[in-house]
Amino acid sequence: MTESGVRNTHARRDGPLKLTVVVPCFDEEEVIVETHRRLRATVDAIPGVHAALLFVDDGSSDHTLELLRQIAAGDSAVRVLSLSRNFGHQLALSAGLEHATGDIVAVIDADLQDPPELIAEFVAKWRDGHDVIYGVRRHRHGESGFKLTTAHLFYRLMRWMSDTEIPYDAGDFRLLDRSVVNALLSMPERDRFVRGMISWVGFRQVAIQYDRSARLAGETKYPLRKMIRFALDGIFSFSAQPLRLATYFGFFASGLAVVGVIYAFVLRLANDSVVPGWATLLIAVLFLGGVQLVSLGIMGEYIARIYGQVKQRPLYLVRERVGFDSDRHTGT
Ligand code: UDP
Ligand code: MG
Repeated sequence: MTESGVRNTHARRDGPLKLTVVVPCFDEEEVIVETHRRLRATVDAIPGVHAALLFVDDGSSDHTLELLRQIAAGDSAVRVLSLSRNFGHQLALSAGLEHATGDIVAVIDADLQDPPELIAEFVAKWRDGHDVIYGVRRHRHGESGFKLTTAHLFYRLMRWMSDTEIPYDAGDFRLLDRSVVNALLSMPERDRFVRGMISWVGFRQVAIQYDRSARLAGETKYPLRKMIRFALDGIFSFSAQPLRLATYFGFFASGLAVVGVIYAFVLRLANDSVVPGWATLLIAVLFLGGVQLVSLGIMGEYIARIYGQVKQRPLYLVRERVGFDSDRHTGT
């Protein structure tokens, strides 16, 4: 980017601004009212910004949707998109991005683990000419040792496996420029690992460090099953490395076989005895069988994803929209 390019961007970024804040919510009845209050206070305090708050109800089975309807009735800047069932965090997030109309779009979890007030800093960075401003967790309070360790390992594994440079310990708490949102919307992939996709699109990205607090109330909506699914999406959508693993396994097994042959030969020459052996044989057969099944499983993961993709089903379905016709106010 040339000097003058940067200056041009500044010019565009000084004026009044439409911001959409996307909040995916799944069974968040305990926190949602407070979340709205904090977000409202936050966006009111950012000068020159007209904000819309877009809550995506990801098929909640508690009172989240009713509370959201009430919130929308009292705040004309609130939009509620209710999905027809639980599609998962990443798809709820994508639905929000698709329905956001702001020049800039912020994404934040509903549980107030990420401080909404940081959005003001995000906007300031955006005005400086950055397109993606993402929060990186310096400390994470109130999360189990297991979650911290697995998250730590996962981000390092991702970095090692993937060609896309996905930053360590960054979540989905971000601010995106319209051009980035459009880029994401042009990516029709089903198994969406949004933070990876954002790294992939490029543009000018910058990190802001922050401390992540504990969930305000309620329990994590990412049980182990969803966490594993999420991690696998990250790996299989951003790396072909696992496929190569099969090749490496193959070479390794063949190498072992060669060593076995030499070993047997030497034994035979040395003491002219029969190589003792059905245990060895059994181990070798089991080992090879294991390697083959693992390789098949890895291929299966990719094939399942191809299958899901070619069916071309919509990514999510919307059951209800609240507040979208109220372009009455800010137009966002
Ligand atoms: N979430 C969602 N759909 C889901 C699971 C989670 O929309 O199927 C939302 C949830 O309401 C929250 C965000 O995604 O706003 C992150 O979930 P959570 O805080 O439970 O995850 P954690 O912070 O424990 O990783
Ligand atoms: Mg959380």
